[in-house]
Amino acid sequence: MTARRTSPSIAILGTGFAGLCVGIQLLRAGITSFTIFEKASGPGGTWRDNTYPGAACDIPSHFYSFSFDRRADWSRAYARQPEILAYLEGCVDTYGLAPYIRYDTEITSLHYDDERNGWHLTTATGEQVAADLVVSGLGQLNRPAYPTITGLHRFAGPAFHSARWDHDVDLTGQRVGVIGTGASAVQFIPPVARQAGHLTVFQRTPNWVIPKQDRAFSERTKARFARHPGLERSLRWLLYGVLEINFNTMRRRSKVGAAIEAAARMQLKQQVPDPELRSKLTPDFPVGCKRVLIASDFFPSLAQPNTTVCTETITEIDPTGVRTIDGEHHDLDVLVFGTGFTSTEFLAPMEVIGRNGVDLNDAWRDGAEAYLGITVSGFPNLFLLYGPNTNLGHNSIVFMIEAQTRYLLHCIDQMQAGGLQWIDVRADAMSEFNTALQRAVDGTVWGTSCTSWYKNAAGKVTNNWPRHTYHYWWLTRRADLSAYHSGRDGGMTQGNGADTTGSRSTLAFTTKR
Ligand code: NAP
Repeated sequence: MTARRTSPSIAILGTGFAGLCVGIQLLRAGITSFTIFEKASGPGGTWRDNTYPGAACDIPSHFYSFSFDRRADWSRAYARQPEILAYLEGCVDTYGLAPYIRYDTEITSLHYDDERNGWHLTTATGEQVAADLVVSGLGQLNRPAYPTITGLHRFAGPAFHSARWDHDVDLTGQRVGVIGTGASAVQFIPPVARQAGHLTVFQRTPNWVIPKQDRAFSERTKARFARHPGLERSLRWLLYGVLEINFNTMRRRSKVGAAIEAAARMQLKQQVPDPELRSKLTPDFPVGCKRVLIASDFFPSLAQPNTTVCTETITEIDPTGVRTIDGEHHDLDVLVFGTGFTSTEFLAPMEVIGRNGVDLNDAWRDGAEAYLGITVSGFPNLFLLYGPNTNLGHNSIVFMIEAQTRYLLHCIDQMQAGGLQWIDVRADAMSEFNTALQRAVDGTVWGTSCTSWYKNAAGKVTNNWPRHTYHYWWLTRRADLSAYHSGRDGGMTQGNGADTTGSRSTLAFTTKR
């Protein structure tokens, strides 16, 4: 056998943390045969799109950053959106990625070519691009979700989604309505409350909210981090350890969950003296079922005299405001949707057609799933970053993205070494992995009495990783191609024949309940 050492051509979608991480690691591995397609005019993904006032990360910066590009000079414990965006833009420059990025180029469809064993990509302008491998860095939270409320488009004033903030609208003295009280809303409600004449917050479900221990780093501290890289590295590991402990919040009847709930109740009690408002803001589902929110200024802003929290169901939006089920009309000048993202459809609205013309929508009709959240049977040479069941409720997604990138590079390395033109995860390996994964999900609080973007309409948890992240790191530290069918120039070379169980990675996913 002659080993193939030419690099495959690789199309990467998106320039968020995921797309940039893959680009950087490919360059570091000496692979230059790739293009990153980005539909916007600049890099940054979610950190480019979410410019709402108060936008910040709720994971500490020293861990919400690449392990290979640690910074000593983060301005504060929890960096704000402009600083994270600048970090990602800096990565494009530092690693020389600019020549590999095609901005303003949206990929609308991916078709696998069974003859050529590679992908055809189509852009929004109809251009055709061929690639051996496709890597999606689109993530889970890139398409804003708008509520399905009668009259949504009839509102006469400015109306916009938090991920498409209209900075031309001056909220000073305005009557502003906000629909939603999730992770985005708790960040923009305090600054909006300070500016608006009156703010009405339409809350469907209250959340558990714990204090944010944010602070600016002094010049001295930053200089100390710069002088002693070991100090910064130790902080990073410390943060990782503490965040990992928080995973226990997701487990049913956990002590950590009880402690988080106590902290949330204490903050609520201290910040909201009015018992009626406090009762409106107290969740009735286990902590961790929805994302635990981290904010110290959210409740105080709701307790201000210019803010009303409305918990009545919205029945209609009309040109002058919002009507609720109790018949009350809330007159508004501006309407803001903090209503989250269409999270369970993953690659949508892109059309993805795999081997033998199978549509990914059909393959995922019972809910998205993948092997290790990365590969999908029947869709050879397609790799997903931040794909199904790899979201976290407790730790940095950058950690998961780096693990997935490592796995991808190991796949590519083995494909090159073995002269493989394509790899396609075996259906049985994927199914076995997901059966075990869903068993682990059963041990978490996500399936309990709450709705969340972690699950699809049928209630299947399609978004979250149900174990500690070191477990995921362990499973992805190297790619075991015995879980894959593969082939060279048309012929199958491995995993050929009946699907058999027993890939090492699959079996390693044991559940503890
Ligand atoms: P979200 O958590 O999905 O919150 C959406 C909000 O809109 C919820 O309060 C939801 O109520 C409400 N809503 C939706 N449809 C509604 C309707 N028809 N009527 C009334 N209310 C409605 O979305 P998000 O706040 O944008 O956050 C999404 C995710 O983005 C987060 O969980 C997090 O992973 C990420 N994020 C991260 C950060 C960070 O700091 N790292 C910051 C922001 C966002 P229900 O709860 O009743 O559904």
